[in-house]
Amino acid sequence: METNPAFAGVRCTACDTMFDADEVSGRCPSCEGVLDATYDLDALDLAPETFAERSPRSQWRYRELLPFAPDAAVTTMEGETPLVPVPSLAAEFGVAAVYVKDEGRNPTGTIDDRGQSVAVTAAKRAGASDVALASTGDDGQSAAAYAARAGLDSHTFVPSRAGFTNKAMVNVHGGDMSVVEGRIDDAEAAFADAVAERDDWHPVQALATPYAHEGLKTAYIEIAAALDWETPDVVIHPTGRGTGLHAFYKAARELDATGLTDAIPKLYAAQAEGCAPIVRAFEEGRESHEPWERPDTICGRIEIPDPAGGNLALDAIRATDGGAVSVPDPETLEGATSVAETAGLELSASSGTAVATAYALAERGELDADDTLVLVNAGTGSKDGDILRSHLMSKGI
Ligand SMILES: [Zn+2]
Repeated sequence: METNPAFAGVRCTACDTMFDADEVSGRCPSCEGVLDATYDLDALDLAPETFAERSPRSQWRYRELLPFAPDAAVTTMEGETPLVPVPSLAAEFGVAAVYVKDEGRNPTGTIDDRGQSVAVTAAKRAGASDVALASTGDDGQSAAAYAARAGLDSHTFVPSRAGFTNKAMVNVHGGDMSVVEGRIDDAEAAFADAVAERDDWHPVQALATPYAHEGLKTAYIEIAAALDWETPDVVIHPTGRGTGLHAFYKAARELDATGLTDAIPKLYAAQAEGCAPIVRAFEEGRESHEPWERPDTICGRIEIPDPAGGNLALDAIRATDGGAVSVPDPETLEGATSVAETAGLELSASSGTAVATAYALAERGELDADDTLVLVNAGTGSKDGDILRSHLMSKGI
């Protein structure tokens, strides 16, 4: 199975050691740090025209910045999601433009499809028979779909609070699912115990492999492409594990290094007030987060008390002069439902944090009149219809 010729191996984000991608595919063997795919960017000769007419119309058309060749990819044509203008929000915030990068349009309704496409491709390439992960719901559903596509068995560990649709669709894709009583840390502990006994299970969880977050990168590349390779000023990402911010920062640096863009946006983490370890570390000026002791938010998908990508997200936020904001659940749900009501877009409940964060930044005067803002909708709102409607009912509507 072919790799991209510019793919140079995987590098540890903590100790900077390079490894051969055929020999190392999980965490760093020296220090357990997160591994990143690396490319010989100087050898790439990329221009906007490189991608314009290319098929397939999926994330794999950005093949130079992905590790594997498109003809080797396990894909259901994920990516190519729209960047939808929302002029009503631009007027409210007093900025030049607001867009929603609508990742709900992916095959299983989540940005995680991009990551699972690349991670399951890597697993297949490594000769795995089984893939496994702990998940708050969306990436578990996605992994089950891509494993099915690849003819692999999947094993997903979800907390009991994971959404009904996520759990049902894992089964519909033929995946094996363990519903663990408690929250995501309980599911992760059960997953770790199971993996320890099964050396034939290939982890596909974000940041447990170099490849799941590598796929998320293409969402940022598409944002830049949709803006004619102009860099947006501010990108706000709903944040649990911190994976998306790390991936977007990596993508922005790679585009900058290839000359396709000439700036890097301010990246903002949007977290729920009831589980905001990254925001707390940012506000306290610390380089690493402390686990959140009593997570409590309606936003189950981003309720991650001890995020694996916490420190990487803090790096991304600080290096881009961005920020981190936590918002209460009612404002989050109001953010998602108001965009549905006034702009017709279906945001996941958790992605309402991005809208509420934009309101907070506007109120604090952190936005400029000529800013272009991008809000990432990480998943489809239709999986959260019950949560969103109950918010309206709580207002007496
Ligand atoms: Zn290391």
